[in-house]
Amino acid sequence: MSRIAYVNGRYLPLAEAAVHIEDRGFQFADAVYDVIEVRGGRLVEDERHLARLGRSLGELRIATPMTVSALGVVIREVVRRNHVRDGLAYVQVTRGVAPRDHAFPVPSVRPTLVVTARRSKPAVKIKGEAGITVVTVPETRWARVDIKTVSLLPNVLARQAAREAGANEAWFVGADGLVNEGSSSNAWIVTAAGELVTAPTTAMILRGVTRAVLLEVAATQGLTLVERRFSVAEALAAREAFITSATSLVTPVLSIDGAPVGNGGPGATAATLRAALIARTRVAPAWGGPVAQGSGIG
Ligand code: PMP
Repeated sequence: MSRIAYVNGRYLPLAEAAVHIEDRGFQFADAVYDVIEVRGGRLVEDERHLARLGRSLGELRIATPMTVSALGVVIREVVRRNHVRDGLAYVQVTRGVAPRDHAFPVPSVRPTLVVTARRSKPAVKIKGEAGITVVTVPETRWARVDIKTVSLLPNVLARQAAREAGANEAWFVGADGLVNEGSSSNAWIVTAAGELVTAPTTAMILRGVTRAVLLEVAATQGLTLVERRFSVAEALAAREAFITSATSLVTPVLSIDGAPVGNGGPGATAATLRAALIARTRVAPAWGGPVAQGSGIG
């Protein structure tokens, strides 16, 4: 079955789906994106992801290609046409097509909208119990990592460094020795004192949707939440470490730069939070099926 993509108003087989070579997304990475988990055929936390997409567009003064509700319809249609039950939906908006010139086109042009969806192993199963390994890399990104731009070269290089070291994720560490976040995830620890620690949104991080939801979930679990950055040494001395993202949910970190975190096994808090997150996740119907509240996943 060939995959279907949405490009500027048309649903096309992937092989025929294309954007212009003078698209500013291609020329300048002048574009934003978001990724939404699809679980059991439904979009997970789509409102928050679309709100973040809207914020990213606003920060870069890229025109909104359509209303949020229309975009929701398109995303669901792409998910449906690709028969995705478990996987992800990807939305990208670029400033549009114009002769190459750094400044914004005048008059402004129509933004380019691309939506794709693909199946993957259910996020709830990916290394969820097993955990992952992490390496650290120096923070080399620009100061606006709160904008979810497709300009991801530092993240690409970080993830490649992880792969070449036989690890799964890379954590960006600032010049002050404190951890910001992962190449595509937020970073957390559970201290020996039982505090749940993650960087605040004022830090060099993307405002992860999973991060925000998990903070709400954790508050109901009686955990002490502390939004501050932590050092690698502190993470190694912590009881647990884990990452969060829409596609990995809560995934334990077993080691950092080859040194074990805690006892080197997946932690109990991560497992509890992961289960609580799955149980409470708000999901909206993508195709086939009523709205489910906290439907969880078998
Ligand atoms: N930080 C970065 C750099 C990311 O790319 C992602 C994945 N979008 C996250 C954090 C986690 O965000 P979310 O929970 O919204 O997937």
